[in-house]
Amino acid sequence: MRLIISKDMITAELLKNRAGFEEKIRKLIGRPILLIELDMFALPCGCAGITANMRGLEVDDLEVFEPQMLPLLKEMAGNLEVKPTVTFARLVPGSSIVASLNWRVLCSRCYPEFARGEGKTPRPDLYLLQFEKRK
Ligand SMILES: [Zn+2]
Repeated sequence: MRLIISKDMITAELLKNRAGFEEKIRKLIGRPILLIELDMFALPCGCAGITANMRGLEVDDLEVFEPQMLPLLKEMAGNLEVKPTVTFARLVPGSSIVASLNWRVLCSRCYPEFARGEGKTPRPDLYLLQFEKRK
């Protein structure tokens, strides 16, 4: 069975999830972290997903709280019906600041860029939180 979601429901879901995720991250990390904008996106290449623009989140927080953050990241994707190939943090280059959290369903052109990389940081501006390798 497929749920039919009206436009009003989508915006209401975004608002609810923005507030809910921010509250859970604050409680987990114990600092006033802000989710300043929650977006759903589609790119010309075929990638699509969710971006959460963050303020106050640091790479150290990801390293320490990653096991507790993963269920929250999964919950957000599920609530917005996105099945991400990759979930990653985008970092401000040359700093420890997390600019955004990203859930992305990769197109076939962008997939190799992520699959090629090794470890948690395939690029200096990326910190991988989840990656689903294709068989
Ligand atoms: Zn793409």
